[in-house]
Formats: sequence, structure tokens, C-alpha cells
Amino acid sequence: MTCTEFLAQMTDYFDGQVEPELLSEIQSHLCECHHCEILVDTTRQTIRVYKNHQVYDLTEEVRERTVQRILAACTGRKSVSASDQR
Ligand SMILES: [Zn+2]
Repeated sequence: MTCTEFLAQMTDYFDGQVEPELLSEIQSHLCECHHCEILVDTTRQTIRVYKNHQVYDLTEEVRERTVQRILAACTGRKSVSASDQR
């Protein structure tokens, strides 16, 4: 799994809606990839904040900004061109 693939699955991952097979791919990516590990950590905290305000879903804006940040961090490792993929 690449960072881009992980990012595409990230909201489903947090919603607990990924298949077991995909979940294990995600988890092994998180073990290998420090950037995405940090991203998950940050997103968890973000979700907690939103929950306190009774809003669970990540807004598109927050997600987009987070994705851009992680892609920028990962650019040195591989080329990515998925900023407009869903
Ligand atoms: Zn990654």
C-alpha cells in the first residue's frame, strides 16, 4: 500500500468500514510509514475534538488540508499525483 492509497481509505478506516484484508494492509503501512502514523495520530485527536462538539465527520476542508500536508511530506519518497482523487 502507498501513502496515496492509504489516504484514499482513511475516512473509511476511521469509520471502521474497511474490509479485514484492507485493514491489515493499512496497519502494515502504518508500521512502515512514519508520516501516515503521525497523520492517523493527529486525525484521532481531531476526531476527538469534533466529537466534543458533537460533530463526528471530518470536514472536506480539514481532510483536504491534511492530505496535502502528508503528500508534501511524502513527495521525497515517491511521486504522487492524487490530490484530486477521492
Ligand atoms: Zn504512508
